[in-house]
Amino acid sequence: MGYQITWADAKLNKNELSKLKKDGLDVFQDLPELVKKPFTEIDKSYYMYFKFAGLTVQKPQEQGNFMLRVKIPGGTINLKQARHLAGIATEYGHGYLDLTTRQAVQYHWIPFAKLPEVFAGINAVGLTTQGAEGDITRNVIDNPLSGIDPNELFDTRPAVQRVHHLFQGNRDYSNLPRKFKISINSNIYNAGNAEINDLAFVPATKRINGRTVKGFNLKVGGGLGMRPYLGLGLNIFVTRSQVAAVAEAVVKLYRDNGYRRSRTKARLKFLIQDWGVAEFEAKLREQLPKLATAGDSAVVGWSNGTALGIHPQKQAGYYYVGVSVPAGRISAADFRAFVDLAAKYGRDELRFDHGQNLLIPWIAAADLAAVKAAPIFNKFSYQPHNLVDFGTTCTGAEYCNLAYTHTKEIFTPLLAQLDQKFSFSQPVHITLTGCGNGCAHRSIADIGIEGLTAKTKDGQRAEAFKIAVGGSLLDGGHFTEVLKGKLFTTQLYGALAALLADYQTQQLPDETYYAY
Ligand code: SF4
Repeated sequence: MGYQITWADAKLNKNELSKLKKDGLDVFQDLPELVKKPFTEIDKSYYMYFKFAGLTVQKPQEQGNFMLRVKIPGGTINLKQARHLAGIATEYGHGYLDLTTRQAVQYHWIPFAKLPEVFAGINAVGLTTQGAEGDITRNVIDNPLSGIDPNELFDTRPAVQRVHHLFQGNRDYSNLPRKFKISINSNIYNAGNAEINDLAFVPATKRINGRTVKGFNLKVGGGLGMRPYLGLGLNIFVTRSQVAAVAEAVVKLYRDNGYRRSRTKARLKFLIQDWGVAEFEAKLREQLPKLATAGDSAVVGWSNGTALGIHPQKQAGYYYVGVSVPAGRISAADFRAFVDLAAKYGRDELRFDHGQNLLIPWIAAADLAAVKAAPIFNKFSYQPHNLVDFGTTCTGAEYCNLAYTHTKEIFTPLLAQLDQKFSFSQPVHITLTGCGNGCAHRSIADIGIEGLTAKTKDGQRAEAFKIAVGGSLLDGGHFTEVLKGKLFTTQLYGALAALLADYQTQQLPDETYYAY
């Protein structure tokens, strides 16, 4: 049974009242009739429902084009799916795919009238957009290297698939107070970015009945955005077979107790802050009384969820190739070149990491030289050492309705210019977002740049930025701290160059930006 209204809901927000009248997932039933009308006849109050199908009305809104996000649980697809994703870009999306920081793929320019056929094609290859946005469980993320990772406790893909299918199309959980993000990861370098998720399964071991069991500790209540919070640990250990039951119990607690009056206080993080982890844990144990107490954390560092470069898999004789995709945007033609490369040398598989990059796994050692010589690597790097390789950026004003500034258009040239001046032994993560939301993980970057507006000398409003430094998810996490002042676009290069010059002159050998 889904969300039931209670006496406490007297002042539900507008979205909540709408969701009580019609479930978000009804959008898929509505669409075949809706698209028979001109888009301008669709009432704006309906736009919220599009979200549940992974759709956002793209600006200018009256044109009836959409941003479309496809869920990719754990960031792994087969090559038939990959070719289909490239085809969507060619046929409907002006030729480009955007890779996201949650291992998903986004398009722009998808025409309203074409949505039923776009969805039919996506479903036919076993993918979905259902719940890619909206007040529902979002794409379940994983270690991008799960199953091939020398630094994982075990393969987390089966757990990711179980949790994905548990919630997919499940109307018991299709009306949450807001979005709900789940991370499942057993990589010891926190490749699942645990602390910025509503619910994170974090690698741990525990002695149970005289033997060491590999499983997870839990963190809850993390999330970025205007008011970011780091996920907090519960005193609970979860075995692999308990993952789906625990995920369902946590989502149920959130569904029934999360705040539904103000959308700005609706994420789980606010409930956790008010209740405290002890109360949340007690309520969870009422549903699942047999859960063990927390085990020994296996986390020893933080990779930022990226997997760039050529590295050996845990399977002897095989390598994965992590390819930098600057600003996460790739043309369909270039994407197809990687699919072809994977088809020739890999194993029917392509993956996405958390840094807007792609990976080709299962390259035999004997084929590495041929792969490196592929012409596509004249354009993309498998040897990440530049700022542009480790940076991330969001959609920004080009398409996003909430943005104050452009992002992707300025980000790549800006970092390329800095790359001509600087070279570092440790990755420096620079992130640029078009507003204060958390879409590209600005709050946990080494240098986070947030778009806003400021008045020029002649009193006009112009795109501007503020800079924050020192974010990380090491040792439980630390958000960036904001530096004083605002900068116009033309001042960004000088400010970043000054920050990086300081780091270059003061860093100890191999010291990371965060440590310095
Ligand atoms: Fe849009 Fe802001 Fe998210 Fe960027 S961070 S995509 S500007 S909402």
